[in-house]
Amino acid sequence: MAYIQFLGAAGTVTGSKHLINTSSDSAGKGGFQVLVDCGMFQGPKEWRERNWQATPIPAHTIDAVILTHAHLDHCGWIPRLVKEGFNGPIYATPATIDLCGIILPDSGHLQEEDAEFYNKTKKSKHTPALPLYTLEEAEACQQYFKPSETGETIQLSPEVSFRFVTAAHILGSSMAEITLQTNGQTRRLLFTGDIGRVRDKHIAPGKVVHSGPQEGESADLLVMESTYGNREHPVEDPRPALAAAIRKTVERGGSIVVPAFAVERTQKFLFMIKELMESGQIPRVPVYADSPMAIKAVEIYLKHTEEYSDEAKRLVNQYGSPLRWDGFTFASTSQESKKINDSKFPSIIVSSSGMVTGGRIQHHLAQRLPDPRNTVMFIGFQAPGTRGATIKSGASEVKIYGEIVPIRAQIVAFEQFSDHADPPELLQWLRTFRNQPGTTYLVHGEPAASSQLRDVMGNELGWNVQVAQWMQKVEVH
Ligand SMILES: [Zn+2]
Repeated sequence: MAYIQFLGAAGTVTGSKHLINTSSDSAGKGGFQVLVDCGMFQGPKEWRERNWQATPIPAHTIDAVILTHAHLDHCGWIPRLVKEGFNGPIYATPATIDLCGIILPDSGHLQEEDAEFYNKTKKSKHTPALPLYTLEEAEACQQYFKPSETGETIQLSPEVSFRFVTAAHILGSSMAEITLQTNGQTRRLLFTGDIGRVRDKHIAPGKVVHSGPQEGESADLLVMESTYGNREHPVEDPRPALAAAIRKTVERGGSIVVPAFAVERTQKFLFMIKELMESGQIPRVPVYADSPMAIKAVEIYLKHTEEYSDEAKRLVNQYGSPLRWDGFTFASTSQESKKINDSKFPSIIVSSSGMVTGGRIQHHLAQRLPDPRNTVMFIGFQAPGTRGATIKSGASEVKIYGEIVPIRAQIVAFEQFSDHADPPELLQWLRTFRNQPGTTYLVHGEPAASSQLRDVMGNELGWNVQVAQWMQKVEVH
């Protein structure tokens, strides 16, 4: 009997890794083995430590990887899998492959920096800290990527084929629809990856890529994300309040500092700012996108116009590339980044990391948090324990680079920019299914979020839903 084993993103939102084994042998030997996603564990230490454990089956026996999208919690363990001996194809959409080309080397670079920092400060001679993988190793794994267009069926073995269908989460994101021949029967498995927002530009504004996951699906077994299983997104359009916060800050001579992930969230925000400027809702102050990946990320977005929302298409047709927009500066080098710090006039600075756990945003905040004229604007989720969460919570000070920085700037936060569907949106999508899956396994959620969504789906749809457990094996009937 074929089985699925949940190697990650079960009981937590990171480390997505789901193994499919077609073997009918109870020891699981000899079957064709596919890994759907190969993400890194992030967040609490007890999960991060699992990044150092080997896969339960030797990496070299995995035949292929199917990657749903380029977020680190779905792709960030690929260089490690390759390091452990995997040498098969990694299927992803062309946009996902392009994004992995900047995200994975950046991750390798950060791993090296972290190891170096640890070794300098902890002086642990006997156990030098090592990076999970290096920049070079991350670059080397690019050779295994194989592009697969949305909708194209790929035959992996006589008994396994798959195709990508639209997930509408970020650029290139897809669900993996896998067809399996098992016990003389055909079974369709759907792995959602992360699921994007529904098609409504008012409740999910500013999307650069189209929204709305593929409707009319059918699946015998569904493995679905549950990140927002117990939370609903606000339904108000955030733009009027966002524009007002920018206007007020500029009027009092301050700057707006926006911590944002360099890929997707930054592009989304820049498109929105451009529109607010062109429609006269905010003043034309200089805008800085400060990240080593900033220019490359925009170039990848411009290359994949096939995924644009109508709104983004209209803006690019009208105003051209964001890289050439008047008053918008993209800083790649650290010299360019330092220049932004010297600017004394009101400006908008978008920089990473999005939760202020590292990166250049730290310099900008260390410099601008003590001045009450400035505003720090959060447009993304701030995980508990991060500096971003501390600043957002209304704390009076925060530690950055080992120094206490007083927080006197205004703090505002918008929750509308999420790229994950919430329960009403998920139900709206699930109701378009042509059949009821035999079993749905919920992954990629904190336990409280997954169990609440399980109950809602059971009550509203009458579906058989279970919360997946880490390392649990389930048979495909
Ligand atoms: Zn994601």
